[in-house]
Amino acid sequence: MDRQKILFVSYTAVLGGGELCLIDFAQAYRDTSQVVLLTDGALRQRLEELGVPVQVLASARSLADVKVSSGLMFSLKSIGELWRIGKQIANISQDSDLIHANNQKGFVVAAIARLLGGAPVVWHLHDILTANIFSATNRRVAVTLANWFATRVIVNSQATGDAFLIAGGKRQLLRTVYNGFDSQKFDQISDDQMHLRDELGIPRDRPVVGMFSRLSYWKGQHILLEAASLLTDVHVLLVGDALFGESEYTEQLKKIAAPPSLNGRVHWLGFRQDIPALMKACDAIAHCSTAPEPFGRVIVEAQLAKRPAIATVGGGTGEIIENGVTGFLIPPNDPQLLAAAIQKIFSDRIATAQMVDRAYLQAQTKFSIPSVCLAFDMAIAGIN
Ligand code: UDP
Repeated sequence: MDRQKILFVSYTAVLGGGELCLIDFAQAYRDTSQVVLLTDGALRQRLEELGVPVQVLASARSLADVKVSSGLMFSLKSIGELWRIGKQIANISQDSDLIHANNQKGFVVAAIARLLGGAPVVWHLHDILTANIFSATNRRVAVTLANWFATRVIVNSQATGDAFLIAGGKRQLLRTVYNGFDSQKFDQISDDQMHLRDELGIPRDRPVVGMFSRLSYWKGQHILLEAASLLTDVHVLLVGDALFGESEYTEQLKKIAAPPSLNGRVHWLGFRQDIPALMKACDAIAHCSTAPEPFGRVIVEAQLAKRPAIATVGGGTGEIIENGVTGFLIPPNDPQLLAAAIQKIFSDRIATAQMVDRAYLQAQTKFSIPSVCLAFDMAIAGIN
């Protein structure tokens, strides 16, 4: 089958979940396709290392001042900027079968490009369009643009698709494509990562719970710290950085971790690339989102690392974890219940080992790179 020519457009170039997902599809299509980034960052380097043609549109720098994610009320100047970049994308897309827009700002630009004669647009929606994250105006504008200008809307879970429909999106546009994962990246790492604990000064016999998310209130690191303060000997690994400027939240977390009861038990690792090894250095992985999680890559990664995962109910997490069967699902914002789930994992080792085996098998098949690439191929089939 001939691969379509895709112009992948991403506004952000930090390595968040949406960008890590983009890497897999851009890599699969690298022989026919290219990526245009509207800002520069670590994503460009990662794509270059993988041999994906990538360019940064320096002229899009002015878009940094255009607010899309909070109250999408464009000023005239912003519209002018979006229009100018949209025209450039329309020109670049002349040789492509479709434009794949990987985030909201990228999609607004792609929709303008379509209006100006650019290739058909596929919006890859990685966010749940719910009231607690997006304003009513923002949802209305995004969904109206999608209904008018998108040929397809790819969503990363059924939950993300449901939110799109509730916000007024057209059902016939939707295709669900989960994120994909290479299980070999986990299998090739030894199960024994005690040396990492030694490096961090964590006694080998202490239980370790890891959290692998950017530092952000809605990711809920504070819930894990509060749960850890209820447990006398659990150590916490916080892996991730404040990617989108949430430095105030980081300060708040440092205060929660400061009291003597937690002192020395919280380990701040910042942004890391060695996720499989770090997960294997943990005994359990917590994913404590305080609002519905669109997908939850970390949960699948925990399953592939053969570590029990505890996640909060809401959004796509229920499509990855069957409670008590392939992990634990608990209500959000409840440190007590999180502490109880952590205790259960450590007290019932046999049941935990069985749960981990089931979860690994599911993750390896349901979220494999070949299976999600096939779903992606089908989602964009026939567009040109
Ligand atoms: N991640 C990473 N380094 C870090 C922290 C997280 O590479 O220091 C990765 C993590 O392994 C996962 C992604 O970032 O693949 C986060 O995806 P998720 O869907 O959990 O959250 P999002 O950032 O998309 O909201």
